[in-house]
Amino acid sequence: MEKDCIFCKIVKGEAPATIWYEDENIIAFDSIKPIAETHILVVPKKHIESFMELDNNDVLVFLAKAAQQIIKSKKLEDAYRLVFNGGKFQTVSHLHWHLLGGEFVGGKQALDQT
Ligand code: 5GP
Ligand code: ZN
Repeated sequence: MEKDCIFCKIVKGEAPATIWYEDENIIAFDSIKPIAETHILVVPKKHIESFMELDNNDVLVFLAKAAQQIIKSKKLEDAYRLVFNGGKFQTVSHLHWHLLGGEFVGGKQALDQT
């Protein structure tokens, strides 16, 4: 838990979010600024700053299993995208995957050009 981390606050229920999935290791909730019809952030509850700090295989498996379950429950098997950012592309310093599906805001080309 990092005091000023918005995702840690969501994990602790201290900040609001629309939650789609939760278990003991993972929480998944809507992005506040969606770039697609479905834009869910899949987040380990443990505060891990970024991909480069990942040193435990379990976290990757937990993330993958949560993402798979959300993809199934939202029937996105035919069209989804999983993305994660690092360095200056990462704006929240708590590891997260973006699960994107449905129509993209500005069309899919807008995303492909980022
Ligand atoms: P990044 O740029 O770090 O890969 O992505 C950060 C993500 O967190 C973006 O999708 C952004 O909209 C989302 N985000 C930033 N602040 C908040 C917040 O307070 N609540 C929620 N639900 N999402 C947030
Ligand atoms: Zn955090």
